[in-house]
Formats: sequence, structure tokens, C-alpha cells
Amino acid sequence: KAKSQGRGCYRFFDGTMHNDAHRRFQLENDLRLAIENNHFLLNYQPIIELQDGSVMGFEALLRWHHPEHGIISPAEFIPIAEDTGLIIPIGLWVLDQAVKQLNLWQKKGLITPQFRMSVNLSVKQFTQPYLIEEIDRILVKNNFQSSYLKLEITETAIVENPEAARQLLQQLTHRNIHLSLDDFGTGYSSLSYLHRFPVNTLKIDRSFITCIGTPNENLQIVDAIITLAHQLKINVVAEGIETAEQLAKLRSLGCDQGQGYYFSKPVESMMAEDLLKQRILC
Ligand code: C2E
Ligand code: MG
Ligand code: MG
Ligand code: MG
Repeated sequence: KAKSQGRGCYRFFDGTMHNDAHRRFQLENDLRLAIENNHFLLNYQPIIELQDGSVMGFEALLRWHHPEHGIISPAEFIPIAEDTGLIIPIGLWVLDQAVKQLNLWQKKGLITPQFRMSVNLSVKQFTQPYLIEEIDRILVKNNFQSSYLKLEITETAIVENPEAARQLLQQLTHRNIHLSLDDFGTGYSSLSYLHRFPVNTLKIDRSFITCIGTPNENLQIVDAIITLAHQLKINVVAEGIETAEQLAKLRSLGCDQGQGYYFSKPVESMMAEDLLKQRILC
């Protein structure tokens, strides 16, 4: 906060700053115990096939149920988990939990072969040396068929070390694990080098979708992303669809899949199961 006031500005250590620092310190400590205390849970948000409105998958989204502060957003605690290295065990917990949930739904006969469970990987996880071994261990332990799994990474993970990223992505592809490039358009990668990476899916960042139907809409950009992705045989998910108008315009541009409050917010597993049984959401 002090930084945003610019150079040459100074301010006194005030109450707010103290509280921010205190909260951060507390969250850091509590985060260490959150796995063993069972304070994490996963929510699931459906990803919809825009052609027919069917649920083609879920994105698993982590929630922290803090005993004092209630539900804390991943936007707040993921950065802390990354700074402390706790993202490694937390990320493995997420993967294990998501895989277990999908296995349960499969036993109930709710899963088609095209279904995908998407799990987010932070840059920190992506660059740690034992990631592949850990993923293998979890898949084997749960007797999980890897083709149901989709991992979401961001452009930053690739840009920071393209050669290592390419090798890792190839190892994942060999296991039939699918890959999504998350928050596309917000990072620094260029569309032109996408073809060098074995990416199956590109998720257009919500910021491009939110402005559809407003004076700031820029359909040419969205159109260009979809067209180029399709030329590279990459399928496209639009993030953050909230209105019927956004859905209609994305459909007319040939966008493959969508995700957003218009279909459903992220929900707990019981509700997610109901959505699976419903099958068609729009
Ligand atoms: P993300 O991977 O881009 O996930 C999509 C975020 O957009 C989710 O926020 C979701 O709730 C929100 N969203 C979806 N549809 C809409 C919509 O129509 N309108 C609006 N306003 N928002 C929508 P969430 O769950 O708060 O997660 C935020 C970010 O935290 C995620 O962004 C992801 O980067 C990170 N995250 C969440 N779970 C995990 C995890 O298990 N591991 C890691 N490494 N990161 C995670
Ligand atoms: Mg994601
Ligand atoms: Mg995203
Ligand atoms: Mg996002």
C-alpha cells in the first residue's frame, strides 16, 4: 500500500498496516496446519460444451475454511502458500482430493469418457523437480485413469523457463494428461509460440469476456484468439460468462466451451453431483 503512493512518499506505521501484517502472519501460521486440521475443501465449477449445453468437466477450486475468519479466498491465501512453499503439499492435496472425487462419481456411473477434471497448478509447483513423480504417485495410489485429468497452468509458468516447461508438458502429454493455458491474454506469451507447446486448451481470461455487451467490448480480439487457436487445433474455453448476451456472442464466434456464473458458481461436491445428473445446463 505504501508503495502505491509512489516514490518520495512516506507514511507512518498506522493501524491498518499493523492489522494487514498481523493477519498475514496469522494466516501464514494457520496455513501450516490447515491440511491436517481438515480446513480445506474443494468446490467444483462446471465447464460447459457451448454446442449443446452439456457439462463436459469441472474445474476444482480450493477453499479454505478458517475457524475464525470463515471462508478465505484463494486470491488471498495462494500467494502466501507460494511464498512459504506450502503450495507444494497443498497442491498435492488438491490433486489427490479431485482425483478421489472423480473416482467416486465414476463409480456412480456419472462420468463419460470425454469428461475432464481440471486442477490448477501454480508456477511454484510447476517448477519443482519432483512434480511428475508426485503426480504419478497420486494417480497410481488412486488407480486413476490419467486421461480424465486436465492441468491448468498460466503463461507465466511457460515464459519463465520455456525449455523446462516444454519437457514437463511433454511428460504430461505422454501420460494422456490434458493441458489448459489458464487466464490467457493476461500474461506475456505471444499467440505465435503456442504451437511449440503441447497445449490442448486455452482459457480466455475473464477480463475479455466481462466487457462483452458493454461499450468496452472487443470482439475482434476474442475472435482472433479463437480463430488462431482453432488453426493450431487448440480448443477454447471462455472464462467468466455471466450473461445470455455474452454466451450468444461467444457461440456465434465458435467458442468451444464456457465457464461462469451464468451456468453455475463453483459449488460443493453434493451440488456438483446434482449438476452432473442434470447434464444439460443451458
Ligand atoms: P482461475 O483458475 O482462473 O479460476 C477461475 C476463477 O474465476 C475462480 O475464482 C472462479 O470462482 C471465478 N469465476 C468463475 N466464473 C466467474 C464469473 O462468471 N464471474 C466472476 N466474477 N468470477 C468467476 P476463485 O475460486 O476465487 O479462484 C481464484 C484463483 O485462485 C484461480 O483462478 C486460481 O488461479 C487460484 N486457485 C484456486 N484454486 C486453486 C488451487 O487448487 N491451486 C492453485 N495453485 N490455485 C488455485
Ligand atoms: Mg484455473
Ligand atoms: Mg482461469
Ligand atoms: Mg482467472
